[in-house]
Amino acid sequence: MRKPKQQPRRSFRQVKIARERAKDALTRFLYGMKDLLGLPDDTNSDLADFITSGKQILSAIAKGDDPPETALASLTAALNRPVRGFAFHFLRIDKPRYRVSPDAPISRERYGTEVFINGGPYKVRMDLVRHVAEALREYLQLIPICGLIHSACQFEGCTNVVFGGRGNKKFCSDEHRKAFWTYGRQREYYQRKQRETYRVRKVTKKGVKKHGRQRQRKD
Ligand SMILES: [Zn+2]
Repeated sequence: MRKPKQQPRRSFRQVKIARERAKDALTRFLYGMKDLLGLPDDTNSDLADFITSGKQILSAIAKGDDPPETALASLTAALNRPVRGFAFHFLRIDKPRYRVSPDAPISRERYGTEVFINGGPYKVRMDLVRHVAEALREYLQLIPICGLIHSACQFEGCTNVVFGGRGNKKFCSDEHRKAFWTYGRQREYYQRKQRETYRVRKVTKKGVKKHGRQRQRKD
């Protein structure tokens, strides 16, 4: 018998770090919306368009679909907006030995249509829309390592991202939760799904006495 190909090793710690970074990046993307205030009109509409596309990408992924090509094209365009400067200055005399803690905060401040990122010795100045796009890109690139940390609103036609809380939220807002449940059709669908899941469980439990809690775990 041939040995199955060994999976590359992935430590728990690596996954944990990736998850933290993913959380940070996704938050940065979602918070991009608050920057819509007080922007010149053209940048405002570019950012609003990009955020719409970004949410379409995230919503599709959470539903197990490939993101729409138009939304990916919008991400590409946003990533091509300018980085306006990169500076690097050592902060101490013992230059090469200078280190900041991996937990050291990176400050990100917006001035007009630009964001200044300050991470110890380096400083980056980039277009605001690109800054939000970089956050989305970072999150998308971490998904293969740490998995999804967001889900999609279950209300039909809504592309809002559901993130945070205890991780069992299914709707972006109370309005959409209510709207979802007032559609008889959807409710029926969910009830049918639940019955199916129940049936599957019953089959799995066959031959096992009483409740699942007393079931012993095999392997
Ligand atoms: Zn929604």
